[in-house]
Amino acid sequence: MKEIFIVGGGPAGVKLAQELRIMGFEGKIYLIEDRFLGGECTNVGCIPSKALFNFSKNFYKTKKLFNIELDLDVNNIYNSVRRVVNTIKKGIEDSLKKFEIDVVFDSAKFNNDKIILSNKEFNYEILALATGSYPVNILDLVKNDIKDNSRILDNRSLWGNSFKDFLNDLSKGSRILIVGGGYIGLETATLFSIFKKSLFYIFEIFDRILFNADKEISAELFKNLNKDNINIYTSTKLLEIKQNKNSYLVIFEREGKQEQLEVDYIVSAIGRKPNLPLDLITKKEINFDNYLRLKGLKKLIFALGDVTGLKMLAHKAEYQAKIVAKNIITYLSQNKLNYEYNLNIESLIPGVVFTIPQVAFYGLTEEEAKHKLNNNVIVKRAYFAANSRAIADLDRNGFIKVIYNDLGEILGAHMIGNDVDLLVSTLLSYHSEIVVYPHPTLAEILNELL
Ligand SMILES: Cc1cc2nc3c(=O)[nH]c(=O)nc-3n(C[C@H](O)[C@H](O)[C@H](O)COP(=O)(O)OP(=O)(O)OC[C@H]3O[C@@H](n4cnc5c(N)ncnc54)[C@H](O)[C@@H]3O)c2cc1C
Repeated sequence: MKEIFIVGGGPAGVKLAQELRIMGFEGKIYLIEDRFLGGECTNVGCIPSKALFNFSKNFYKTKKLFNIELDLDVNNIYNSVRRVVNTIKKGIEDSLKKFEIDVVFDSAKFNNDKIILSNKEFNYEILALATGSYPVNILDLVKNDIKDNSRILDNRSLWGNSFKDFLNDLSKGSRILIVGGGYIGLETATLFSIFKKSLFYIFEIFDRILFNADKEISAELFKNLNKDNINIYTSTKLLEIKQNKNSYLVIFEREGKQEQLEVDYIVSAIGRKPNLPLDLITKKEINFDNYLRLKGLKKLIFALGDVTGLKMLAHKAEYQAKIVAKNIITYLSQNKLNYEYNLNIESLIPGVVFTIPQVAFYGLTEEEAKHKLNNNVIVKRAYFAANSRAIADLDRNGFIKVIYNDLGEILGAHMIGNDVDLLVSTLLSYHSEIVVYPHPTLAEILNELL
């Protein structure tokens, strides 16, 4: 009987296992996971953050519509977020059972051509690495004398063991420094800013937040976020963290001047690194071809999801899982690989930032397109303020810009405003053959029908 080993039970690994069965693979599928099914996304990433986004969005909307003060019940928020995570995890477990996937809870290790599970070596013909990524540790990068790091958080501790205490402290009033003005840092500030007694600082080393986004969008988002209890410092470098008795003193450089700030929590959102199985791959990065097959290894090994780098997003991981599943099936039936994932597809993978207002985008930014095509681009803009539904929703904030080449082809789209997580899918479906719906959005329901 044929066997397939998948290492990593996050969105990439789970989707691959499911797709293989949907495509008719009848052999054994081993899914090996060393922490929790659902991976980073379900447990300490996309899902808890969007469960809290629901509170945040409705909090601001309700306050605005009814002009009332709202009491936040920490236990209710905590339990609700946990329930959402558990419901989704249960769905994953049930699906894996239904598809008769053998889940092995262990940390996979490798020895030459063998995989080691529970101290036993197994031969494999086909292996898929879906080992994900991990957050960069700020204390490894910044000078510090930290003895108590219990209030220096990354996404794993924030949404894991520290979540309840964090909520409690924020409800009483805390000072929080978020390091990194990328999507994870900005979402974190948005979500927790409902605790109005607390004060949030975001340090971004570049001269603008969301550095990879279109400049106009990042400026508009800055304008919307940098108010009330959120303070964003751009061109700001964190130099040192000093331990105080019950707080941290951070030394930073801002526009050439050194300053300091006392905070109760530090949330690190400075980036993620692919989780490379170093006993299998001796190089510093994973080297794979367009079929997502690792180069230079004798065996057939695929890589998918965050471990492949570039855009680290769950819907990309799942899309790559479909490509790998098709390649495995054609390899087994015709001894060849047929399906490619390349940079053109990567560019069509939308990014969504669940801030208020939301941001969504794909393709080239205006600056990139102008640079690439020698300024030969057309930029069209449309504003929410002129849209009847946005007016009815009392939310006229935002705009969409679409970048065309002189043949009228869309090179990129960038949007900021209410519900752009859905609008980005609408636009993609309109003109692109490859449509990857962002996660987690209602548009993903359509994946089951199309
Ligand atoms: C705060 C936050 C919010 C996010 N929000 C979104 C969002 O809204 N939308 C979105 O699309 N993406 C979001 N992401 C990104 C998303 O979580 C990742 O892109 C996604 O989880 C990648 O899936 P993956 O399967 O490649 O890896 P992972 O989810 O990291 O799963 C890999 C799994 O492999 C396991 N593993 C690793 N090595 C081994 C081994 N040797 N043996 C056994 N198991 C192993 C790991 O423990 C892990 O469970 C967010 C991330 C963070 C941190």
